[in-house]
Amino acid sequence: MAIATNDTNTKEKAANFLEEIIQESIAKGDTRVQTRFPPEPNGYLHIGHAKSICINFGLAKKYGGKCNLRFDDTNPVKEDVEYVDSIKRDIRWLGFDWALERYASDYFDQLYDWAVVLIKKGLAYVDDQTQEEIRLTRGTVSEPGKESPWRNRSVEENLDLFERMKKGEFADGEKVLRAKIDMAHPNMLFRDPIMYRILHAEHHRTGNKWCIYPMYDYAHGQCDSIERITHSICTLEFDVHRPLYDWFIQALDIYPSHQYEFARLNLTYTMMSKRRLLKLVQEGAVMGWDDPRMPTICALRRKGYTPASVRNFAEMVGVAKRDNVIDLGKLEFCVREDLNKVAERRMAVLNPLKVVITNYPEGKTELFTAINNPEDENAGTRQVPFSREIYIERDDFMEVPPKKYYRLSPGTEVRLRYSYLIRCEEVVKDAEGNITELRCTYDPESGNGSSSDGRRVKGVIHWVSAADAIEAEIRLFNPLFTTEDPDDVAEGGSWEDNLNPDSMIVTRGYLEPSLGEAPIGQPFQFERVGYFCADTDSKPGHPVFNRTVTLKDSWAKINK
Ligand code: ATP
Ligand code: MG
Repeated sequence: MAIATNDTNTKEKAANFLEEIIQESIAKGDTRVQTRFPPEPNGYLHIGHAKSICINFGLAKKYGGKCNLRFDDTNPVKEDVEYVDSIKRDIRWLGFDWALERYASDYFDQLYDWAVVLIKKGLAYVDDQTQEEIRLTRGTVSEPGKESPWRNRSVEENLDLFERMKKGEFADGEKVLRAKIDMAHPNMLFRDPIMYRILHAEHHRTGNKWCIYPMYDYAHGQCDSIERITHSICTLEFDVHRPLYDWFIQALDIYPSHQYEFARLNLTYTMMSKRRLLKLVQEGAVMGWDDPRMPTICALRRKGYTPASVRNFAEMVGVAKRDNVIDLGKLEFCVREDLNKVAERRMAVLNPLKVVITNYPEGKTELFTAINNPEDENAGTRQVPFSREIYIERDDFMEVPPKKYYRLSPGTEVRLRYSYLIRCEEVVKDAEGNITELRCTYDPESGNGSSSDGRRVKGVIHWVSAADAIEAEIRLFNPLFTTEDPDDVAEGGSWEDNLNPDSMIVTRGYLEPSLGEAPIGQPFQFERVGYFCADTDSKPGHPVFNRTVTLKDSWAKINK
């Protein structure tokens, strides 16, 4: 394997920079660790969020602290309980549990009161300009902005107007509340940032109680402070917001939470923008949010990824301070590594070639004992039926074999896994010359891994008894995009041009009968073929199996 396993060996791993920060504060006597994971309930969580979850919950766990789940529900228009429920399910699936479940909307009263405090201190004012006018007068990096004509309203007038904003006396966009800081500040975010806007919209939790809603920059730090968050961990793009985060906390003189930024996770061949993922769902480019080709956590679960593999991946890629792009192959490596330990083995043939064993009695069935998982002795064994007609994989036979081809070819012998040695006696073809069937003989003495004269063969192939096999729909997944960077487009093109037309290949397969009872989502290794699990689309009489991951890193190498 190209990726050294010691990458995943956490025992000796040096502390990441967030761990160092926490260890330093612990050394100074600040032992309390309180983090939070703050999703906006406006979409499903993806693998990038999984990373943030592992960091926030992981740090709390490691240092004996707590992590809250706080829904950042300050934008009623885009948010929905459907997303709240999916987010909770996904976090639990990853193996984490929160100390408190909170919503930014739980704090709307407190946030309002604090806005009043800022008005009284002369640090906030009601502006009658439209959001568009405000944007146009912000200035540029090299030019200061223009002060609003309403900037110097009296405290009394501001208190009155703000209260009337709350009471619903004004239409959407008619007024905003702004912090009064500095219209010439080099950090553009300090140029009198908007704290509240008017939005006559029903909120999924507070209903119609509010028609003014706080902006992210005003809400987030104050929510952190209320929950006495010690380490407010977010992605790099928020580093310019940090001074403003601190400014509000200082101006209000409340518990000083601190913000720390890490580099967001980017993956090759993967798109993580919620807006674009929503577009794929809405346009039917994928089967839904949980389509196994999506980067969402629910999709990874449906595809057969295990929580441990996702956590191991987050650990393996570590926490960086600079933006980078991780090879999708690393995620698949972690999936394989975990499935190799936990997935039971089964036999399944995806590209069948019929084999008739001419000297085996018609109508007879024998059972052979197969090992469920050589990596786990507790996994036990199962019985696999054998009969006169079986399927083998088409590429386990070659009419004209090259040197060192140890599988089946005319006149040679191969071992059927857990069963007999067979010899190919005859190749049957149709009118076009396609091979339709092989006629073989078996050695009746070779059924327990031996042979009548002690001869050994090098090739062992998998097989399924034709009469007993379950026919299943098999979905083979490939990356959703053809380019490492989905945004890598020619001029005038769009990211959608890079969608992979072969991201899902549907085929049929013959499975050993024990797979008929496979619970949805339980991973199996189809020996020599890959890792698979039963899909949620499975119905009685119509099983559907997803390929979770190939056995080897095949496509990543082919594509490079
Ligand atoms: P939006 O554009 O809707 O804000 P978002 O991806 O930032 O999208 P949030 O729900 O705000 O979504 O994210 C919750 C948390 O997950 C935030 O702390 C955010 O920084 C973090 N997060 C989001 N995307 C990634 C990513 N790719 N890697 C690591 N963390 C991420
Ligand atoms: Mg966000």
